[in-house]
Amino acid sequence: MQIYWTKINKIIEETPEIKTYLLDCPGGFTWEEGAHTHFALKGFNAGDKPNRSLIRHMSISTLPYENSIGITTRIREQCSEFKAILRNLEVGNEVALFKTHSNVPLKREGKNVYLLSSGVGLATLRPLVLDYFERADNVNQIHSLNIDSSQNFLFTNIFESAPDKKFTSQFVDNRKDYYEEVKSLAADKDGLFYVVGSDEFLVQNIEILREQGIRPEQIMLDKHERQLPEFLSFDLSI
Ligand SMILES: Cc1cc2nc3c(=O)[nH]c(=O)nc-3n(C[C@H](O)[C@H](O)[C@H](O)COP(=O)(O)OP(=O)(O)OC[C@H]3O[C@@H](n4cnc5c(N)ncnc54)[C@H](O)[C@@H]3O)c2cc1C
Repeated sequence: MQIYWTKINKIIEETPEIKTYLLDCPGGFTWEEGAHTHFALKGFNAGDKPNRSLIRHMSISTLPYENSIGITTRIREQCSEFKAILRNLEVGNEVALFKTHSNVPLKREGKNVYLLSSGVGLATLRPLVLDYFERADNVNQIHSLNIDSSQNFLFTNIFESAPDKKFTSQFVDNRKDYYEEVKSLAADKDGLFYVVGSDEFLVQNIEILREQGIRPEQIMLDKHERQLPEFLSFDLSI
């Protein structure tokens, strides 16, 4: 397993609670849209076993052409040891990345794509939208729906409806509006639905999509292949 040590080159305050850490791209490090990585802090591999409290899965919120690896995360006042250390890191400090992989690349199957996310889940989807803007081949259109009850919506410069690019972006701040909109989007029985958020959020979205007749193979989750059956083959009657 290759561990890439790299430096923070910029810290962006996206909202009062959300920061993006832009990291230098180490030589040989590459990724595709939808990728997540293992993001680790100094000392994580100091002992015999890796110290899990210093490692988190994080999506990469940028694309390689932006020349930085973006890690976007919410840091609340009450937070884990990991986030408390991260909050105090500065430009020039070192962090480590390893085991990077995308479970959710943009599918180019000539279909309408729906991106359903909660809060910082939009970080996983930002590179899919950028990739689509760069090259729209075999994607009919993209519709993004994000829910954030804080109303501090993320990446609004990119997640802005652009009819000429066949891109629609919606932000809502409450569950009622969110799930009503999911139902109406699921009227497209041939669409591809990407869902990103907590496991509870995934389960609720999948339940609604399935009730509306969307098939498991139309639902894309940022989960390893072996975890998918747990989410996508449950019996609705239970
Ligand atoms: C494939 C994948 C991709 C992911 N991508 C991202 C990503 O891009 N960005 C991202 O942010 N996360 C991402 N995650 C989730 C990430 O790995 C963390 O699980 C998540 O950010 C929570 O971090 P944390 O455990 O450090 O807890 P925190 O975020 O610090 O806390 C989680 C919750 O617990 C509460 N809490 C924590 N500690 C305390 C305490 N001591 N006292 C009281 N309350 C407390 C907090 O208030 C908060 O509500 C991803 C996960 C996976 C599996």
